[in-house]
Amino acid sequence: MKFIETRGNDGTSPKSVTFSEAILSPMSSFGGIYSPESLPDLGEYFLKCHVDQDYKALAKNILTAFNIDINDPVIDEALSLYDHFDDCTTEGCNPAPLVKVKDDLFVSELWHGPTRAFKDMALQPFGKVLSSLAQDHNEEYLIMAATSGDTGPAALETFKNRENVRVVCLYPDGGTSDVQRLQMVTEDAPNLKVIGIHGDFDDAQSALKLLLQSETFNAKLKEKNISLSAANSVNFGRIIFQLMYHIHSYLELVRQDEITLGDKVYLDVPSGNFGNALGGYYAMKMGLPVEKILIASNENNVLTSLINKGLYDISDSSVIATTSPAMDILKSSNVERILFDMLGEARTKELMQQLDTDKRYQLTEDELSKLQSVFSADYCSDSEGSQYIKDTFNHDGYLMDPHTATCFKAYDTCRDDKSLKTIVYSTAEWTKFSPTIAEALTGEAGSSDIDALKAIASKANIEIPESISDLFEKEITQSVVIDKQDIEKEILEFLS
Ligand SMILES: *Cc1c(COP(=O)(O)O)cnc(C)c1O
Repeated sequence: MKFIETRGNDGTSPKSVTFSEAILSPMSSFGGIYSPESLPDLGEYFLKCHVDQDYKALAKNILTAFNIDINDPVIDEALSLYDHFDDCTTEGCNPAPLVKVKDDLFVSELWHGPTRAFKDMALQPFGKVLSSLAQDHNEEYLIMAATSGDTGPAALETFKNRENVRVVCLYPDGGTSDVQRLQMVTEDAPNLKVIGIHGDFDDAQSALKLLLQSETFNAKLKEKNISLSAANSVNFGRIIFQLMYHIHSYLELVRQDEITLGDKVYLDVPSGNFGNALGGYYAMKMGLPVEKILIASNENNVLTSLINKGLYDISDSSVIATTSPAMDILKSSNVERILFDMLGEARTKELMQQLDTDKRYQLTEDELSKLQSVFSADYCSDSEGSQYIKDTFNHDGYLMDPHTATCFKAYDTCRDDKSLKTIVYSTAEWTKFSPTIAEALTGEAGSSDIDALKAIASKANIEIPESISDLFEKEITQSVVIDKQDIEKEILEFLS
């Protein structure tokens, strides 16, 4: 399987690269990203064969279908990390359980990994694969991530103490939940550095962008023989591990006798950078029977406008802070891979350049109808989300986080065929956004994370998982909080 560039080739970089090349250096010509040249066609027989197999066997065979240049032992070791997810029983590992919430609504829980958010689904195996490649190439890699709260902990967790990879994680001080911050600042390994920034997530992200473009910084890295890679979802090494759970969730519906193989379903995805939804799109193209992919957003509703009107416009919007912060995004990176797949490299390049210069682009009628043949979209306000959390808990006995809640709005408004079942993707455990959930359930606002955790646990009669309650006792090992202009110096000190 070869990977090609979403904005075409500039004549100096290779026309196509292997999987391992694409994941070590994910950026390509003209600021584009790598996408698969073609997708394997799995077909109904493949699905049928996997009804009786576990998650790891499915994942392994999907990777085999992609024919990637990673050795079997590395893949096996990477996939064995799913054994540490907490719903893995002796009968075969199920890191992503599917829970029935309404007659036609099922929740695929993607947060059973170590950091209790769905980022672990891809980052756990990805960390192993990237570190092995770096060792094979005998090279040192630096991964820098700006996080609004979930990517940071998951990236630190997967790379801690791994060879040939160092991770620097920037977070907005005061801009994450207590649990998210503690998950980062209590990480203690010599290859990890966590830096709090005075400012918001956008400040952290733009500081990181400047640094990545800085000639002096890059020269210093070169001096130290360190190359840059990336662990965000522009890296296809993450996307490939996000196809699987869409196929897995569908097979779970078959196993639970809720559908017959071949029946269509809706996939309902809480979206930010569009990695999760892109995984669903690829799964659909590979033969998964999907009616439509519903794109759920919060009040940062650029994706809703794109899919409903063909207009991507960030010219006079700034990020709105919502109660689903992992979706507080205006530039959704993986939309580019959809445009590329539907419209080709020339048009993708044109549109992405318009977005850079004019901060907006408008699709043609034709292009819009292509997009709408696959996607529907709606967005959910914080107060609507809060109501969904409350109602779903009271009527259906299901406790969910504010990101997952946005999908319930899309479920209500975006389905044309009400006879089909819907898979909602749950991207975080209730423990990660407890103040919002406690307020939705009890009406009491302003509690700290620990008080909110206790309030929810008592209301829902469940226990706070140990991995979360332990955080409040752990020693803080990463206490740096600085101004943007001091980041470069801090990172270079860490690297020397
Ligand atoms: C990252 C994240 C999302 C958004 O996923 P994308 O793949 O970027 O669209 C949604 N919910 C939670 C909790 C997340 O951590």
